[in-house]
Parts: sequence; structure tokens; C-alpha cells
Amino acid sequence: MSEVLQNSPSKTPAHSTKIRQTDVVVVGGGITGKACALGLAQLGLQTIEIAPDLSQTVAAPQGPQWGQRIYAFSPSTQKLLAHLQIWDALDHSRMQSVRDMRIYGDRGEKNDQLHLSAFEAGTPQLAWIGESNLIEHTLDQASRFQNKLERINDVLEKIEVDEHGSTLHLKNGGIIRAQLVIAADGANSPIRSEIGITSSEESYLQSAVVANWTCTYQHLETAFQWFLPGGDIVAMLPLPGKQVSMVWSTSPENAAELLKLDQAQWLDRFASIANGAIKKQLGELMLNSTPVAFPLRKIRATRFIGPEASPKVVLIGDAAHVMHPLAGQGLNLGLRDVAVLLNIISKRESFRAPSDIVLLRRYERQRQGDTSALLWVTDKLKKLFSASSNTERQIRNWGLGLVNKSHFIKQRLIERALGDIDFE
Ligand SMILES: Cc1cc2nc3c(=O)[nH]c(=O)nc-3n(C[C@H](O)[C@H](O)[C@H](O)COP(=O)(O)OP(=O)(O)OC[C@H]3O[C@@H](n4cnc5c(N)ncnc54)[C@H](O)[C@@H]3O)c2cc1C
Repeated sequence: MSEVLQNSPSKTPAHSTKIRQTDVVVVGGGITGKACALGLAQLGLQTIEIAPDLSQTVAAPQGPQWGQRIYAFSPSTQKLLAHLQIWDALDHSRMQSVRDMRIYGDRGEKNDQLHLSAFEAGTPQLAWIGESNLIEHTLDQASRFQNKLERINDVLEKIEVDEHGSTLHLKNGGIIRAQLVIAADGANSPIRSEIGITSSEESYLQSAVVANWTCTYQHLETAFQWFLPGGDIVAMLPLPGKQVSMVWSTSPENAAELLKLDQAQWLDRFASIANGAIKKQLGELMLNSTPVAFPLRKIRATRFIGPEASPKVVLIGDAAHVMHPLAGQGLNLGLRDVAVLLNIISKRESFRAPSDIVLLRRYERQRQGDTSALLWVTDKLKKLFSASSNTERQIRNWGLGLVNKSHFIKQRLIERALGDIDFE
């Protein structure tokens, strides 16, 4: 890594400030930031990752207690992680493949059901369910051995972008100059606002309560989801053994109540859902983690590259888009941002720098369609199932049954859920 000593021209420091130079800076220590930083370094770019949570390797999950953050990983995520040499290094005994998805309407009638099957789709599995810290731990391990990647445990305070690159000012006083900056700094992305990218934002007025359960029946590698009257959505995702991970999207008031329930009260709540359907499918449930709640909202950045005058910054992950978790796709979409960016940079013409405007525009164009489609589908599903009039209720339940009879529509739904990325 080269270093230059510069006297900042118009800005104050009386003493000379050490400015470090690098090809790329990735800001953010979530899964998208970690995967992106590793991938860019593997392409041979001198990469620095900055986040306040990088001081230690995330511990590998162990034992019968399962992590609080559980994700559904789509095949597109599997492809990216395999490309980064992460997938085979994961502890697969802590990953559960999903072969069936069963989605039920809110009338509790047998025909109001959409069943997606890996067999019908001609694919070995529809998704995998696993812990966030399993992926983070393995990304951390791989990053330690990547000599083009340096991680700095710090917070970005200010970014200045000019036509040649960006200057990043860190909280601890460090200054870094980079050709390209990747903003993986989450839903409230400070970089997004600082470089003047606006975003549309809408609260769903819901929180998701997540908790893990052991059950007495086999889940049969099936992910269950119930749309309930009034707009609540309860998903039960299969984990290895007789365990499931619950995501219950509900009003913030009800979420606050759910967090206080004891084991017996939870069972009463479950019994009241869709005529006791949860117990029929999974048997008795025993709480296996402390429930936690996350507020839910939709965010879409108007641009994925910026600033307008001279783009040198790329938004990825939740910094670019946030969606309702009903389809379990937010992180998968963010990792497709990473895959597309890595593809574009690795296939760039030899005369183009990684921050070339043509490459950044390619990235933005390629990510717009996938992002718009997923945000639209999850948003419309969420709103359709929250509507309370009888007609809307009938239409949505009838619609589930109708879609279930159409192999063509189901195939398209599955294609969207699997995602599609290619590496050469
Ligand atoms: C209940 C729930 C269930 C979900 N289930 C799924 C699922 O099953 N499948 C799925 O694909 N998605 C799911 N999601 C979505 C998923 O959680 C997010 O899309 C994903 O975690 C976003 O990752 P990220 O790396 O983009 O952002 P984050 O994980 O938010 O990371 C942002 C990073 O930026 C850092 N940062 C912020 N500001 C600064 C700064 N100034 N300087 C330096 N660093 C900074 C933070 O410290 C953090 O490390 C779910 C979401 C919820 C709420």
C-alpha cells in the first residue's frame, strides 16, 4: 500500500496529514460489505474495508443454541459464496436446505394455498436456511488470508468526492484516498445522504419478531408462511433437526406484546392462528431463543451510483434497497449487487480503471430491473394481504389457489426467488 504525505490545501491542518492511497474502499461490515471487499481483493485490487465492527472475527456458531439472525439464502447467494471460495468452507451441518414452500391464505381453507416444490421446479433445493454469523465467520476467516485486503476498525465521518476519486475521513483521524468507494453502510447509509443521493422511504408500520423453536414433528424441509387476517404474516423456516426459525411480521404494539410472552402464552397464540395450522404441521413448539423485534420499512435509493456530477461511489445492499422480509430476499438482492459489480469489474476492458463511469453506469443499469421487480412484488404482496375488505380478501385467497394451478406462473415465481447470476 502506498502512502503520501500531503498538506491539505485550503483546509486547516497546520501539520502535514498522512493520506493513504488505495484502489477501493468498502464502507460497511455487514455480509454485503464483507463479501464485496473479499471479492474485490480477490480480483487483485488493493482494498480497504472500514466498519466499526471489524476488530474481531465473528465467532463460529456452535451447540444447540441457534443464532438470532437467520436468513434464507437463495441459489444466487450460493453461487456468489462458491465463487468467493466460502461455500465449501461453511459448516453445512448448520445449514438446512428447503425443498418445499407452502404459503397459506387467511381464510384457513385448504385450497387457498400456494405450494412451490423443488421437484416441480427441476432444482435440487429452493433455498438454504442458516445463521448470519456462520457466513460472517467464514467471510472473516477468508479475509484474514487475503493479502490485498486490509480491514480497519473505524467509522467513516466524512467523504469528499472529486473527478479523480474520493477522500475518506475516519473518526480516529485517518484519511484515505480511493479511486472507487463502495457504500455497504446499511439502510441509513450516511454515504448515500452525504453524496446527495435521495431515496424513497416508507414504513410498513410493522415489526418482525424473530425466534427459534424446536418442534415435535419433522418440518420435512418445508418453509411455511401464513398470511393472517389484519395483515400479520407468520413464517416458519426449517433449521437442521427438528427446529424452525419464526419471522412474525405484525404491528409494533403486538410485537411489543409478543416479546413479553412466556412459553404457555406463545402456544395459546399459535393455537389461534389459522385454526391451529402451526400445531398441525409442526406439533408442539418449545422456545429455543430470546425473541427480538426489527422495525420494517421499504427504502429505494433513486440512484445506485453518485454523486451526480462525477460518480465515484457505488451503493450496494441495504444502502441501495430495503424490503419487507416476507420473501426472505433482502440480503440475497444485496449479494446479487456484489456479484454483478465483481463481474463488471473483472470483465472490464484493459484501458478502464475500476471507477470508470462506463462501468458504474453498467452496474446501475443491470441492478435496476432486479431491484425494482423484487421491491414491487414484495410491496404489493404485503399490501394485498393487509387489505381488509371482503372482496380483497376473497381475491387474494382465490389468487393463491389459482397461481397454484398454473405451472407457468409458479415457474416464473421460482425463477425470481432463485435469482440468476453468472461468473466466468
Ligand atoms: C426480520 C428480518 C428478516 C430478514 N430475513 C432475510 C432473509 O431470510 N433473507 C435475506 O436475503 N434477507 C433477509 N433480511 C434482510 C437482511 O437482513 C438485510 O438485507 C441485510 O442484513 C443487509 O446487509 P447489509 O450488509 O447491506 O447492511 P448491514 O448488515 O446493515 O450492514 C451495514 C454495515 O455498515 C456499517 N456502517 C454504517 N455506517 C458506517 C460508517 N459511517 N462508517 C463505517 N461503517 C458504517 C455498520 O456498522 C454495518 O457493519 C431480513 C431482514 C429482517 C429485518
